[in-house]
Amino acid sequence: MRGICPICDAVLGFGDVEEAEVVVCSGCGTRLVVEEVKESEVVLTEAPEVEEDWGE
Ligand SMILES: [Zn+2]
Repeated sequence: MRGICPICDAVLGFGDVEEAEVVVCSGCGTRLVVEEVKESEVVLTEAPEVEEDWGE
């Protein structure tokens, strides 16, 4: 599967990803969220800034 980075337009290849999974663009290093998985491509959006520390 592949997806296009919305930040730098790099074409990214993925093995197997699921919706809501966070990936990192190899082109610009931006954290991206898999918004939608289609047959052979994934829709990516920029991940919101999140702290590594989950309080709960
Ligand atoms: Zn990128």
